[in-house]
Amino acid sequence: MRSLSYVRAKTVREATQAFASAGDGARYIAGGTTLYDLMKLGVERPAHLIDIASLEGADRIDTGGDVLFFGAGALMADVAEDEVVRRDYPVLAESLSKAASQQLRNMATVGGNLLQRTRCPYFRNGAIGAYPCNKREPGSGCPAVGGLDRGQAVLGVSNACTAVSPGDWPVALTAMDATIEIGGPSGTRSVPVSAFYRLPGDTPHLEFAIEAGEIVTGISVPKTEAGKNSTYLKVRDRESYAFALASAAVALAMDGDHVRQAHIALGGVATRPWRAREAEALLNGRSIDRETTLAAGKAAFADARAGKHNAFKIELGARTLADAIMIAGRKTQ
Ligand SMILES: Cc1cc2nc3c(=O)[nH]c(=O)nc-3n(C[C@H](O)[C@H](O)[C@H](O)COP(=O)(O)OP(=O)(O)OC[C@H]3O[C@@H](n4cnc5c(N)ncnc54)[C@H](O)[C@@H]3O)c2cc1C
Repeated sequence: MRSLSYVRAKTVREATQAFASAGDGARYIAGGTTLYDLMKLGVERPAHLIDIASLEGADRIDTGGDVLFFGAGALMADVAEDEVVRRDYPVLAESLSKAASQQLRNMATVGGNLLQRTRCPYFRNGAIGAYPCNKREPGSGCPAVGGLDRGQAVLGVSNACTAVSPGDWPVALTAMDATIEIGGPSGTRSVPVSAFYRLPGDTPHLEFAIEAGEIVTGISVPKTEAGKNSTYLKVRDRESYAFALASAAVALAMDGDHVRQAHIALGGVATRPWRAREAEALLNGRSIDRETTLAAGKAAFADARAGKHNAFKIELGARTLADAIMIAGRKTQ
């Protein structure tokens, strides 16, 4: 039997100190909805758990200041149901309300959501003697390449890894240019969400721009008029309680009936939350019609690379984006 220690921290300082003194094998735990799962699967094997679910002030939601601020410990359900977020930034609210289930959202935090690991079946099969996985064991190989890859990514893939970045909320945050606030033993820092998620390249085990012992303390989102004209469209095998096969976060700042600035990110199709700059460029300065939205969808997937069974994601992703732009566009009228 393996031993496991558990402490509950009250402040960020207390948590980072506990992490440092625990040494190797320490992990923070918030809602536990994904970490406990991975422990049961044998993918994560922590020796020390530091519970950060009740850090002082960590669940703060502040929509009244210059930026929207969400404490990392805020529950997914509370942010999804916040009146201002729902009214003025539907893309954020919808990305959360379409994720997981109500029970999970009542436990899970918006900080933990950022750091969840991929649902790639080869990665999650962590039992001894199971499939190799470059993310789990660097250099061991990737059976998804040339294997059962229906759910795998088509954007941002490498020969070492095609695992999809699973979260919905990070996709919406990417479209909205959010910043991740991080606290650690040597102070605080901010990282744009675009730099928080790494491409797999040859090092798919390095997923997030956060050092061991650092804590995500919050998420800031700039306030923008585009927020009102926004949506998160998610396509999945089941209509609820399933991860995205393809999703699109779209927010539109308008000049009359022309798009001044489109904010677009994609989920379910890429190895990290995927900012679709080519689609944005195509849309900027144009009015929204079916032809333009389909062209934007195509542009977003111009560099896509499919495997054996997931080529359908290219067409599905392009059409999901086109539909999301139409939905966001209708909100501008
Ligand atoms: C059946 C099921 C279906 C799901 N469906 C979806 C879905 O459709 N869409 C979706 O987006 N998600 C989905 N999820 C994932 C769910 O949203 C995540 O499990 C949840 O958001 C994680 O939050 P948590 O607080 O429970 O994290 P935890 O499990 O506590 O932690 C997750 C990871 O983050 C680290 N961590 C947590 N908080 C911090 C912090 N503040 N600073 C640093 N590190 C931290 C932990 O060490 C751990 O590695 C699903 C989960 C399940 C079980």
